[in-house]
Amino acid sequence: MSDYFWVSDLPEGRCEYKFTWSPKQLELEEKGIKFPNPIKLELQCCRQGFEVACTGNVSTKVEAQCVRCLENFEIDVNEPLSFSVRLGLGAKSVISLWTEDIVSVERFSGKIDIKPRIRDAVLLGIPNYPVCHENCLGLCPVCGVNLNKAQCEHSKRKAKSRDPRWQKLSALLKRKIEEE
Ligand SMILES: [Zn+2]
Ligand SMILES: [Zn+2]
Repeated sequence: MSDYFWVSDLPEGRCEYKFTWSPKQLELEEKGIKFPNPIKLELQCCRQGFEVACTGNVSTKVEAQCVRCLENFEIDVNEPLSFSVRLGLGAKSVISLWTEDIVSVERFSGKIDIKPRIRDAVLLGIPNYPVCHENCLGLCPVCGVNLNKAQCEHSKRKAKSRDPRWQKLSALLKRKIEEE
């Protein structure tokens, strides 16, 4: 896989491209996040003369640790991406101005380094506080037992002291978690 996306070679009209990078190629490994799969980009481009509109989707999986129960689990990352390219004379061929969604490249030999943008999209798609399941019960603050897997004396006592009107609901919830 070439490091660059050769925008000036694009044919007139619509076309689709698929890119795949390893986490290492995108310099994602140093972030301390585990990527079990490669990072994929599916890009639809539409060229009309000197204008190219690109939309796509960045996808991969990351291995994360639940902030409540500290178990590892996988998160699907799916981030939309869109930008447009203007092919002009004399523009710099490798663009560093990715802060804007419009990129200018040289008309006859224009290429863009798309990797930093993909890297940003992946990092944006990773939640800051990953939770394995919205009903994750976390760890017991007293003895540290994983309450999704087991009960301890502290969690039982807490359940007893609850308002009886809530007990039916928590029993239902517990059954739901056990089923899953
Ligand atoms: Zn959890
Ligand atoms: Zn406990």
